[in-house]
Amino acid sequence: MLFRSPDAQPRFLNAAAVGDTDASAEDVLAVLMAIERERGRTRSFQNAARTLDLDVILYGERVMTTPVLTVPHPRFRDRLFVLEPLAEIAADLVDPVTGSTVEALRRALRASSPAR
Ligand code: ADP
Ligand code: MG
Repeated sequence: MLFRSPDAQPRFLNAAAVGDTDASAEDVLAVLMAIERERGRTRSFQNAARTLDLDVILYGERVMTTPVLTVPHPRFRDRLFVLEPLAEIAADLVDPVTGSTVEALRRALRASSPAR
């Protein structure tokens, strides 16, 4: 699924994955960051164009903030490029902060977003 970024960044392929794990959220993030490094992500500044960005969006219905990890991801409710692919595979997941499902968040953001 491709969405054009509003701030004229290059086009990105966005995808979501859902899985079961015994690993902690911190360990999942460490694996994602290792994959980012392996794939040559270059970090310049936050939201800068990047080769690969892997985030932990939800971890069950846990709410946590540590120095390296905030779950649910603090900006996922504002990102259609997250909510659209996530709703395709996990529409009924519940955001423990707002109590809304992924599908409800997607619909609300679509309704408030300018037509693309
Ligand atoms: P974004 O993914 O919001 O565009 P970045 O990938 O540039 O931002 O930010 C990465 C930093 O955000 C990492 O250093 C990581 O420790 C921190 N971070 C906090 N919470 C999360 C999360 N839920 N998923 C991924 N990274 C997170
Ligand atoms: Mg990230």
